[in-house]
Amino acid sequence: MYRKCREYGIEVKSFIDKNPLLENTLIEGLTVFGLNILEKYKGKKPFLIFAAPMAADKMEAFCTQNGFEAGKDFYSTKNIIEFLVDISGTCNLTCPSCPRGNSPRNAIKGFMEVALFKKIVDKILTDEPDLPCLALFNWGEPFLHPNLAECVGYLKEKNVYSVLSSNMSIEKSIDNALRSNPDWLKVSISGYYQDVYATTHTGGDINLVKSNLYRIRYIIDKYRLSTKVEIRYHRYLNNMGQDWEKIRELCQELDFALYDIVAYLQPLERILDYHERKSVKNLETLIPLFIDKEVYKVKNEASEKVNTTCKYQVNQISIDCNGKLQLCCATYDDANNFDMDYLTTSLQDIVKKKLVHDFCKKCKRYGLSMV
Ligand code: SF4
Ligand code: SF4
Repeated sequence: MYRKCREYGIEVKSFIDKNPLLENTLIEGLTVFGLNILEKYKGKKPFLIFAAPMAADKMEAFCTQNGFEAGKDFYSTKNIIEFLVDISGTCNLTCPSCPRGNSPRNAIKGFMEVALFKKIVDKILTDEPDLPCLALFNWGEPFLHPNLAECVGYLKEKNVYSVLSSNMSIEKSIDNALRSNPDWLKVSISGYYQDVYATTHTGGDINLVKSNLYRIRYIIDKYRLSTKVEIRYHRYLNNMGQDWEKIRELCQELDFALYDIVAYLQPLERILDYHERKSVKNLETLIPLFIDKEVYKVKNEASEKVNTTCKYQVNQISIDCNGKLQLCCATYDDANNFDMDYLTTSLQDIVKKKLVHDFCKKCKRYGLSMV
């Protein structure tokens, strides 16, 4: 969004984010303030532009409550469509809270061909000309893709911000991909010490992760890259003590942003399985570790969400490594994905199919959809 503003000659003064860990940090050399900064400007409102389309509804509600008027005092991005292209159909880990560790294997595997990726990006830009960024992941590890650098390079050509998410427990060299200067790199971690980390990042090695984090800092400095690195710390009941403190120190040392998120079970199919009292692989070991147990309580079936439209039905398109359409970023099973190519399906048809999908009805009944 910052880039788009600059393209249109709009001067961005600062950022506002509700994450306290980002407060007073710098993005593109500008300070990130907490929401309370708005108190100071009650009489002389700054013009706000929302950057995260999926959170735009909440931001709009907050701004309206605080006397800001849509159009006059803020611009909402809530109608921008978010796209995810899972360029890698595989992951090297099998974390228990992720379908890679708790679901039957999908037919999807392999990596997206670069030629297909380019065609998909071109169509995305026709479907959403205001696209601010593109995620090159969903259920796959993008750094396993042999041509990640080319994919990032193509997005640069098209002036689209590239977003990567990785476990960084990667043995092969990450240098080439990093040197393509991806804009935003999220690294998911769930501990500082191996015994804690390996419980929830199954198959991963935290020493390998740490060595890659140091390598990332080295490459960024050596080649003067502008990649913004963000550590996404998955919070469980077993990792908020010394592990958390050490990760905080590490992020300070390497000057990486730190963002903590309460871990939860994925994908939606397994949550529904649990609600329907079917067994879910690994859940027994995970439940004692989850901080938020709410989602696992069997809910009343008459959810208030039944007759609403989910944001993921109309404002999100998720594409797998074969170029096929997935129902949304939170579903995984082949049975719920569409046997339709993104390239040959119109945006209107995709949304139409999603709006009548049986799994969405179930998802809403249990109150799990994104309203
Ligand atoms: S959570 Fe991430 S790292 Fe773990 S298995 Fe899933 S995709 Fe791989
Ligand atoms: S209703 Fe549920 S399954 Fe359907 S798009 Fe929304 S989150 Fe995904």
